[in-house]
Amino acid sequence: MKRGEHGVWQRRFWEHLIRDQQDFARHMDYVHYNPVKHGHARCPHQWKHSSFHRWVKEGVYRPDWLCQCRENSNPPDFEAISHSVGE
Ligand SMILES: [Zn+2]
Repeated sequence: MKRGEHGVWQRRFWEHLIRDQQDFARHMDYVHYNPVKHGHARCPHQWKHSSFHRWVKEGVYRPDWLCQCRENSNPPDFEAISHSVGE
């Protein structure tokens, strides 16, 4: 393989990996916001059954992520993600 082609392949590999990580993060956000979306809780931290609390302990999420009981926040539009997960 010529050097130039190798560079293109590597770049594409990383672009694909980053897109998947972003997609994974998007779906994580979707799942953890879902109880709020469906009216089971006002904020993600209020849904005690959520794996959200585990991720907070791991430092992945802040405890006040999309919290609306402590301060006003504008949740992102999860409509696009809804379609991608088939809901
Ligand atoms: Zn809250």
